[in-house]
Amino acid sequence: MASADVLVLGGGTVGAAIAYGLARRGAAVTVLDGADDDARAARANFGLVWSQSKGVGAPWYQRWTLDSLERWPGFAAELAELTGIDLHYRRNGGLTYCLGDAEFDARRTQMERLRIQGGLPEDHARMLDRAELQSLLGRVRLGDRVTGAGLCPIDGHVDPLRLLKALHAALLRNGGTVQAATPARTIRFKGGSFTVDTPRGRFEAPRLVIAAGNGASALAEQVGLHVPIQPQRGQILVTERLQPMLPMAASGLRQSEEGTVLIGATKEDAGMDRGTVLAHAAPMAARAIATIPALREARLVRNWAGLRILTPDGNPVYAESPQFPGAMLATCHSGVTLAAVHAFDLAEAWAPGRLPDRFAPFHHRRFNVPQAA
Ligand SMILES: Cc1cc2nc3c(=O)[nH]c(=O)nc-3n(C[C@H](O)[C@H](O)[C@H](O)COP(=O)(O)OP(=O)(O)OC[C@H]3O[C@@H](n4cnc5c(N)ncnc54)[C@H](O)[C@@H]3O)c2cc1C
Repeated sequence: MASADVLVLGGGTVGAAIAYGLARRGAAVTVLDGADDDARAARANFGLVWSQSKGVGAPWYQRWTLDSLERWPGFAAELAELTGIDLHYRRNGGLTYCLGDAEFDARRTQMERLRIQGGLPEDHARMLDRAELQSLLGRVRLGDRVTGAGLCPIDGHVDPLRLLKALHAALLRNGGTVQAATPARTIRFKGGSFTVDTPRGRFEAPRLVIAAGNGASALAEQVGLHVPIQPQRGQILVTERLQPMLPMAASGLRQSEEGTVLIGATKEDAGMDRGTVLAHAAPMAARAIATIPALREARLVRNWAGLRILTPDGNPVYAESPQFPGAMLATCHSGVTLAAVHAFDLAEAWAPGRLPDRFAPFHHRRFNVPQAA
């Protein structure tokens, strides 16, 4: 039986960030990761590091997201220094393109609501009219239907695969281990310690983090946590490498450091099916061309689908087991954006043994609201 201070079940972006955060604070951490053919959002996502539209009606989540954006530059630099991996993180602003007046008005209303809710300054985010947006894009012509965009200067993007690789490497550099293809099957608690059985042996630790994405609910049940999680399919299209044309990332449209343009992502209720469906992806391509007509000339080279991990309100859940002290579940929809607070703030808060009260709004008891008759 292999033992550690903490077992982290799941080596996606959420599990790896928390594991790294705990290891950099001195804990002996072992990550047990799933099978190679598991649905892994960490390997299928769009790569936005994003605050726009996060936390409407949930100021605690809005604050958490903004905290993460504040930490991101130092976090990316720390990972690069430790591992030699450049994450291709760019914090040069994020856009949400609007097609037509209705989209422009709705975006303005939502941004204003978020600004007031968060007590944020006027320049935190603003609307650009079409002329301002066109001058930002320079020689790249906007489509006729584009009325403007929301702009948030602190948003940005990252290569999510480089992020995942760097988190794993940084964990190893801090003495942690990752057991690949070692899915947790059963969890038992006895004598103040958790024993986890896997097809590759038994692992033991006094503390446990369940961060297994769409596999987390089944594991959490075993420690008395009943967390509703649903998959949501998201398809992404990728073009061939193009000359630099998009000066900043946008919701649904971003150019990678290598020159490819990513177009995404659909929101589909397809269970655990990760297949691609042209009829769903095509409107996304049409919208991208309506926004930036030059993309009509670009060849598509890939189309893939990943599964988001969604709670009923789309906001994160961090919850400790009341029956089995030392077990925590962590899940969220934006694990790339939140990677910095997971590695720094969440790991620090949980390190002494109990999540502080400020995490109470993130508990899944918020879903157990009695329904009106
Ligand atoms: C199309 C799409 C676009 C997205 N775009 C963005 C974006 O722009 N910005 C952003 O911030 N986020 C984005 N996300 C979300 C982001 O990818 C996830 O939040 C992030 O990957 C974290 O997921 P995770 O670690 O919880 O789960 P996953 O990445 O799915 O990892 C879960 C891990 O748990 C393992 N596992 C499963 N069962 C077990 C078990 N029994 N025992 C041990 N391990 C197990 C799996 O093998 C896997 O490695 C997007 C997601 C999708 C699908």
